Amino acid sequence: MKKVPLSSPQINSSDIEVVVEVLKSGRLSIGKYTEEFENSIRDFVGAKYAVAVSSGTSALHLILKASGFTEKSLLIVPSFTFVASANVALFEKGSVEFVDIEPDTLNTDSSHLEEVINKNSEKYENIYFMGVDVFGHPLEWDRIEAICNKYGVKIIEDSCEALGSEYKGKKAGSFGIAGAFAFYANKQITTGEGGIIVTNDEDIYKISKSLRNQGRGEGEGWLAHEYVGYNYRIDEMSAALGWSQMKRIDDIIGKRDKVAQRYNYLLSNLEVKTPVVKEYVTKMSWFVYVVQLPESVNRQKRKKIMEYLENNGIQVRNYFEPVHLQKPYRELGWKEGMLPITESVAERTLALPFYTDLIQEDQEYVVEKLKEALEIFA
Ligand SMILES: *Cc1c(COP(=O)(O)O)cnc(C)c1O
Repeated sequence: MKKVPLSSPQINSSDIEVVVEVLKSGRLSIGKYTEEFENSIRDFVGAKYAVAVSSGTSALHLILKASGFTEKSLLIVPSFTFVASANVALFEKGSVEFVDIEPDTLNTDSSHLEEVINKNSEKYENIYFMGVDVFGHPLEWDRIEAICNKYGVKIIEDSCEALGSEYKGKKAGSFGIAGAFAFYANKQITTGEGGIIVTNDEDIYKISKSLRNQGRGEGEGWLAHEYVGYNYRIDEMSAALGWSQMKRIDDIIGKRDKVAQRYNYLLSNLEVKTPVVKEYVTKMSWFVYVVQLPESVNRQKRKKIMEYLENNGIQVRNYFEPVHLQKPYRELGWKEGMLPITESVAERTLALPFYTDLIQEDQEYVVEKLKEALEIFA
C-alpha cells in the first residue's frame, strides 16, 4: 500500500556533511555554527539580533522573561494555536486570556482582541498580546498594531509557523518587541529540535542570550551568573543543520508553495474549504496545509474520515485542538462555548500530508481517497 506521511523533512547531502563535520570537530556546543545560524536568520528576517535556543517554546519563554512578564502580567493569546503559545505565560505564573479567531484566516479576530483588552485593562500591571501567524499566514498587522498601541499592549510574535512569510513586504517575526521561530522536523526548515528569538531590542537580546546560558554575564567566567537562567542552548549539530538549510530557504518556500497550489487545484471540485490567503500577504510560507471539512461533518464523522485515510496509508491530523479546552486551562475555568469560532472551526479542520518534496502523484492519491471518504461519511 502507498504511504504518504503527514510531513517529512528535506535533508540533503550538504546537511549531512556539515553535521558530520561538526561531530568530527569535537566542538559540539557554543561554537561557530550557533553564531552562523543566528546571523543567517537575523539577516533573512531583517532583524538586528537573533538568539538561537533549544526549541520554539524556549524562545517564547525567554522573550516573556526578558521583557518583564511576571505573575502580575496578562498574556492574551488565541486558543487556536499550539499549546506552547499559552503555556509560557503559566511558566511565569502570569494570567492567560484567550481571543477568538476569524473564520477564514484562522488568525486572531482583532475586534475580539480589543474587547478582551478592554475588559482586562485595569486588572494587570502589563498586558501582552501573543500574535500567532497560524499555519504560516501573517496576522493583519496594521490593525493589530493599531489596537495594541492604543492600549499600550506589548506584542510578541509567535512566528514559529511562518518563517519567510511577509505582511505587506515585511517579514513575519519582525512585528512587536520580538518574534520566535521553531525548527522541529515538520517546520519549513529543521534543526531536529531548536528555535530562535529575533528582535531589534538590545535589552531583550542581551537578557535572553544570558538566560539561555544559565544567566551568565557577557565575557565573564563560566561560573559567574547574573540571573537565574536556564540551559536553553542549541547544540552545534542542530545549528549547523539549520545553517545549511537556510542556504536554500527561498527554494524550500517556493517548493512548498507549489505543493499548496497543487492541492488548491486538485481540491477545487471537492466540498472542502481550502486555505485562504489574504491580499495583504505578499509572501506566503506554508507550514501545513489545512482544509475545513463541510458543515455536515461533526467530530465523529471527521474521526471516520481520518480513519479511512489512515487505513489507506495517508497520515492526517486534526490541527488544532483548542488550547482553552485542554486540561490545565479547563482547571482555570475555561469551557465549551467560550470561543465559538475557534470551537466550530476546530471540529472540522483536517491537515493533509504536506512537505517540501511531496510529489504530485501522492497528492492526487490523497485527494482521491479524501473524495471517497467524503462520499461515504460526510
Ligand atoms: C512549533 C510551534 C511552537 C514551538 O514548538 P517547539 O516544539 O517548542 O519547537 C510554538 N508555537 C507554534 C504556533 C508552533 O507551531
